[in-house]
Amino acid sequence: MNHIKRISVIGAIWILLTLLLLAYLLQVANMVAYGGAITAGELLAFVEANGYEATDVWDYCMRYIWPYWLVICCVFVGLLYLAWRLFIRGTRFQRIVYSAIVALLFIPLCFPLQHTIFHETMCVVHEIHMIRSHYNDNKEFVYNAKCTDIPEGKEIYVLAIGESLRYKNLSLNGEYERETTPLLKQQTNLVLYSDYYANATLTQHAMPMLLTPSTPETFEEHFRYKTIASAYHEAGFKTALVSHRAQLMNNGYHDYLAKDFDTTIFVVHDSLIAPALAILIEQNHKLFVVTNYLGNHMFYTNRTEDCLVWRPDYNADPNSKSDSLFMNAYDNSVLYTDKILNNEIEVLKRVEGICAWLFVSDHGEYICPHISGHGHTYHPAKDEYHVPLIVWYSEKYAEAYPKKVSNLMHHKDEPVCVDHVFWSVLDMANINVENQKNRASLFEEKLIRGERLILLPDGKTIMQL
Ligand SMILES: [Zn+2]
Repeated sequence: MNHIKRISVIGAIWILLTLLLLAYLLQVANMVAYGGAITAGELLAFVEANGYEATDVWDYCMRYIWPYWLVICCVFVGLLYLAWRLFIRGTRFQRIVYSAIVALLFIPLCFPLQHTIFHETMCVVHEIHMIRSHYNDNKEFVYNAKCTDIPEGKEIYVLAIGESLRYKNLSLNGEYERETTPLLKQQTNLVLYSDYYANATLTQHAMPMLLTPSTPETFEEHFRYKTIASAYHEAGFKTALVSHRAQLMNNGYHDYLAKDFDTTIFVVHDSLIAPALAILIEQNHKLFVVTNYLGNHMFYTNRTEDCLVWRPDYNADPNSKSDSLFMNAYDNSVLYTDKILNNEIEVLKRVEGICAWLFVSDHGEYICPHISGHGHTYHPAKDEYHVPLIVWYSEKYAEAYPKKVSNLMHHKDEPVCVDHVFWSVLDMANINVENQKNRASLFEEKLIRGERLILLPDGKTIMQL
């Protein structure tokens, strides 16, 4: 019995030490890459990681972080060996030293104190618990949505959601010196908002706020709402989701966001989204589609060879040393995004009918010579939340709703945020819902503006922008 007890104790110690070492490796990787302790968002990303993301992060760790990991492993094992020797052969005093060494091993995990790995882990547990326990909370919810105008002919509306695309790197803004959006630049009837902010720096927080009326202050209420697809469905539209399969709404935790669509299509490549949209348009008369791309997610491998313009590129020239490795790779992926978005607009241009398309990126991206990413700190840089909002409308849309178009143009340099997306996408199709006193639409003459807030990686803390 004593023997079994001893094996259990030794086993428990080994498990604890292994977890401790793993926590160290994660913490050190984060300190090296992002200059701060690991956040709940990162832990959640590990839990939810898809193959695409996991491979990219592993590749990054192996390229930049492995020397730190090697040192940590050597120091960790060396300290434990020393402590063990003291414990076996040492005096009482030396055993106290042993205990102190083991205790010291835990201290860096508690740094910085306000966001310990334990605190962040508890936030992740809370988020997963919320998703599991509220998965079906919206079953009875209705918007009581109605169209105030039902025109003859075909009507197609699209909410296109990009990934990690920041405003600063689009030549469409008229300021960026690299020609990253040559195709979108040629489109007419296209409006780029210059001062639009995301409400979160992580996809899992951004998406619910794009698809429901929830805000950073009421984030956890999003479980109560159905998504915007339901409002369109109630108003007489067929609804569809066309998403890259590595995106959020295809993962087991967040697939509740996809369940309100009449049709869901998950594709293996962003280039397949526009063709899927074309087929849906052929089959439906009144249609609302949400398209969701893999886009510009780190580390910017999502592009084709013809978009490899700026060199050296982090992915194409792995042995190069340059401060622009990440930036070049990012801009190459933006050039590809330009093509993908343009393809979608070209599909809509072929429709003989009323069409409007609203694009936003879920959040932006922070890029430095040796660091890139989003949602890694509690002090997000502007690049992580200043993202593009772009609207395109067909000629027939402009003819039918000239006032809406002129309002849209009029507000294009005003400070807006995600709070405007849900209401604008409804208003774009003349859809009213029952409770819309806070309806902040870009298509309205008078733009309702509130405070711009951002939900930080623990899913609770809010920062004013
Ligand atoms: Zn994202």
